[in-house]
Amino acid sequence: MRKPIIIANWKMYKTKAEAQEFCHQLKTLTNGNIPETAICAPYTLLDTLRESLADTDILLGAQNFYPQEEGAFTGEISVKMLKDVGVQLVLIGHSERRMLFGEDDELIQRKLLWAYEHQLQPVLCLGETLAQREQNISETVCLAQFAHAVDNLSNEQIGRLIVAYEPIWAIGSGKTATAADAQAMIGAIRTFVKERYDHTAAMTMRVLYGGSVKPENIAELLAQQDIDGALVGGASLAAESFAQLLKGAIT
Ligand code: PGA
Repeated sequence: MRKPIIIANWKMYKTKAEAQEFCHQLKTLTNGNIPETAICAPYTLLDTLRESLADTDILLGAQNFYPQEEGAFTGEISVKMLKDVGVQLVLIGHSERRMLFGEDDELIQRKLLWAYEHQLQPVLCLGETLAQREQNISETVCLAQFAHAVDNLSNEQIGRLIVAYEPIWAIGSGKTATAADAQAMIGAIRTFVKERYDHTAAMTMRVLYGGSVKPENIAELLAQQDIDGALVGGASLAAESFAQLLKGAIT
């Protein structure tokens, strides 16, 4: 059975003191009673979080990296640097990276393979825009993003992948896709893997939903057959709401 995972995406938020306070509060509020959980934090917080989370099972995640060992890449960060501060998982292809920083399918494909080659768990993000949804091409768009990203992976690697389906119109907008819509897309991604790649990979690959996930809607989302967790932005920033959300995700 696939184990649900909740991943916090802190984006460009929090100082070190704020991150420490968050961890302290979260530990008090949850008392270790949480599903599989990860926090993807800004680089400046990773070392602090590693210390603050050392007595928990919470995984440490980053939001990006550049797929080269080292070199003249001003402003970038390598997987080796991330692993050096204890990072275990990394977001790849978040829509904000695609839209604001020009990341294309080709770069995302390289990053995914690189993460696997360097033993870092990738979380592949994909999703359609509002205009694409209105044109009824969401599924085509998402499956094309997926197919391009996994092009160089083995079936075994696809089976270990975490995918986050995040409709762009639902991110930070307060508009969540209905649980049925999220299930439909995530089910379509799983079927695509089954038909085009491998049955086992389709059954083990975890696919999360992201986009205005809140304590109020987490249980309904997770109750869907193919939804294996959530990628959470806004509601992961305050310890109270994140603790409540984690509580709602315990199955
Ligand atoms: P949101 O962000 O929960 O604030 O909508 C989700 C994300 O961008 O990963």
